[in-house]
Amino acid sequence: MTLIQPHKEPLTLLHACCGPCTLEPSRLLAADGHTLTVYYANSNIHPDGEYAKRLDTLKTWAVTQDLPVSEGDYDPSNWERTIASALRSHDCAEDDPHEARCRACYRLRFEQSAAFAHAHGYDCLSTTLSVSPYQYTDIIAQELERAAKMWGLEAEFRDFRPNYAEATRRSRELGMYRQNYCGCRFSDGEAKEEREERKRKRQEEKARRAQEKKAWEIAHADELAQVKQRKMDKQAYAEKQARKRKVLRSLRNVDDASLSDTLGAS
Ligand code: SF4
Repeated sequence: MTLIQPHKEPLTLLHACCGPCTLEPSRLLAADGHTLTVYYANSNIHPDGEYAKRLDTLKTWAVTQDLPVSEGDYDPSNWERTIASALRSHDCAEDDPHEARCRACYRLRFEQSAAFAHAHGYDCLSTTLSVSPYQYTDIIAQELERAAKMWGLEAEFRDFRPNYAEATRRSRELGMYRQNYCGCRFSDGEAKEEREERKRKRQEEKARRAQEKKAWEIAHADELAQVKQRKMDKQAYAEKQARKRKVLRSLRNVDDASLSDTLGAS
């Protein structure tokens, strides 16, 4: 006799980097039958005030969803050591330094999450990091798989990037705090530089358009002068006609008044 196993909903630990990025993954995974706990393990986040702000945003929202949130150890010194060691030993042929840094960062957070998941009886490990189109999605998939395997878990990797716009819309609608850099001190500096660069490009573009406009005006100066003259002529003609009409109206009033006087006297 074959025993039919009752369907068991997977108990999934969802590693989360922040509230806005958790909105869509938690919705989609729950819809697919995962029983979720959100795990905030992010020693990468700098400074500590930023770490607390993101966690607070996540928790405030999660309470409204009855979604449990656990917090991993926050150990920025360990993160710094891990990244420094990864950068010292990284294989340049394999990853560029930025990729090597992010790989080590994912690895640290996923290993911490997987160890917690194993210790607390979870079946699956997933992450919200793949919502962002600014992350290395393939490396996230590899590192999630690696960490899950180390601890005998299923890796529930999903490419959530198609839901990024919806996550942005929902988080804005909910008034959530939305950070403007990935998390570490490097990314803070890089994001500032990118914003400066975008600003500089916008200013350059604006100056270029103003210059083009000026050059066009110089090249078409005669045409513009003719248009201006025609406009002035038209206006002068309209004013002249208005004056004429006014005089005619007053003459007509004088005639009417004289006629009335004459008729009145007769
Ligand atoms: S940019 Fe983001 S993923 Fe990469 S190391 Fe910094 S915090 Fe980690």
